[in-house]
Amino acid sequence: MKILAFSILYFIDKIIRIFYRQPRLAVLMYHSVSDTNWKFSLTEKELRSQLRQIASEGFKFIGPGNFQNYLDDINSLKTDSVLVTFDDGYKDFIDNALPVLKEFDIESLLFIHTSRKSNNLGNNFVLLNNDEISECIKQGVMIGNHTRTHPDLKTLARSELENEILGAQKDMMELFKERPMFFAYPGGKFNDEVVGTVKITDFAGAFTVNSGLIGRNFDRYRLKRIGMYKSMSKIEIKARLSVAGNIYEYIRRKLK
Ligand SMILES: [Zn+2]
Repeated sequence: MKILAFSILYFIDKIIRIFYRQPRLAVLMYHSVSDTNWKFSLTEKELRSQLRQIASEGFKFIGPGNFQNYLDDINSLKTDSVLVTFDDGYKDFIDNALPVLKEFDIESLLFIHTSRKSNNLGNNFVLLNNDEISECIKQGVMIGNHTRTHPDLKTLARSELENEILGAQKDMMELFKERPMFFAYPGGKFNDEVVGTVKITDFAGAFTVNSGLIGRNFDRYRLKRIGMYKSMSKIEIKARLSVAGNIYEYIRRKLK
């Protein structure tokens, strides 16, 4: 059913694009690259195959710096472009993901929480330690703010929100001498108050886990990302990387 829906929507989108061609800007969201049955993990082979497909669809991989330039001036976007992000900073990022990213010459954005414990992650995957994070930075990875302890930000009072968000920014400056330009809401959870606190720090953008392309009228503090999973079919990836994915999500929300 899902495949049929994506096929139909993708076909419609393809026809529209013949007459109305607009470059696409997308952000991919990955978590763990490992051979486990966790929903948020995929193998190196699966990662490579997804990236290869995306490149063959005509997308150019861009780094966080270029992505930021496009947010500042969306009209300067001339080719279909995609930014690759990873959340939480699992140990397998340096072992498994980074070598694959290098094959494609991809500059990625890695969101980490600065208290390197997994208690709020709902899994017992090993996390990168600070030395390994420094090594990733040395190898060209940009780090992003994913709070201090990865809590559900919607449940926190204003002072706790500031501790989590501004505190993590301070931690990263101290630990890695880097001032993160991007933020990702842990578990994709946010409300207006959370966004208000994020706005205090002059992040270039804050990412959700809501699926879709970065449209022309994007909200810098509610940026969409396309969650990438091992279960995705080729047609789903095609559709998610087109307006068809946005339409699918719109219909899905209406039917809920
Ligand atoms: Zn996370």
